[in-house]
Amino acid sequence: GLRPRPLVAGNWKMNGTRASLPVLEAVIAGLTPELASRIDVLVCPPATLVGTFAAAAAGTPVRIGGQDVHAAPSGAHTGCIAAEMLADLGATHTIVGHSERRADQHETDAQVCAKALGARRAGLVAIICVGETREEREAGRTLAVVRGQLAGSLPDGATAADTVIAYEPVWAIGTGLTPTAADVAEVHGLIRRELQARLGAEGDRVRILYGGSVKPSNAAELMAVPNVDGALVGGASLKAEDFLGIAAAY
Ligand code: PEP
Repeated sequence: GLRPRPLVAGNWKMNGTRASLPVLEAVIAGLTPELASRIDVLVCPPATLVGTFAAAAAGTPVRIGGQDVHAAPSGAHTGCIAAEMLADLGATHTIVGHSERRADQHETDAQVCAKALGARRAGLVAIICVGETREEREAGRTLAVVRGQLAGSLPDGATAADTVIAYEPVWAIGTGLTPTAADVAEVHGLIRRELQARLGAEGDRVRILYGGSVKPSNAAELMAVPNVDGALVGGASLKAEDFLGIAAAY
């Protein structure tokens, strides 16, 4: 089918304070109308900045998202943030199941699935992250691991309007290492087939992002791979020039 509209998303992780607002402003200022007509651009700052950033981005093509949500809409969950709370601040998306949370907070596929359903309930797009570790790749288990994570983390009834998948090999995150174009094509092809099997024709429309050491210098090659419908960018999203350079790869 037709190639989905690309999405370039920045994951700021635990970086940024109010003093970082000029970075967002530079992204907004540097996003040309021509580029904004072809791709979607999303910035996911820490939750503390979602309100400030959403206010600053209001009326521009740049969207603001969270990095995680609790599955429940409210309740006795000290320190957690509901999808409804991010939506209330003007967020439109949230990352769920990032590998750092799967590792550090021991999030399971079932929990990630519940978080994605929480995002849907609140009207947020869930960016569901999957990806193998270096040990899993070396053991030849990449496709089995990604298939299993996707099966367990993708809610039933997902649509292209509420769900994005991000393939992020754990060993490529923050390391400067990237898979070959052929390896990316293999995994994204698997994800596409799994989406088609679960969601039918809707599976052709769900965007599949690549993430892991995307830089301006490698973005064009990675983004040209079949079934790569955009990028999830960590470190390089903290500099407006680099983030815009990646977006310009489209
Ligand atoms: C990420 O953690 O989502 C990511 C892609 O990080 P980096 O771009 O820094 O590898």
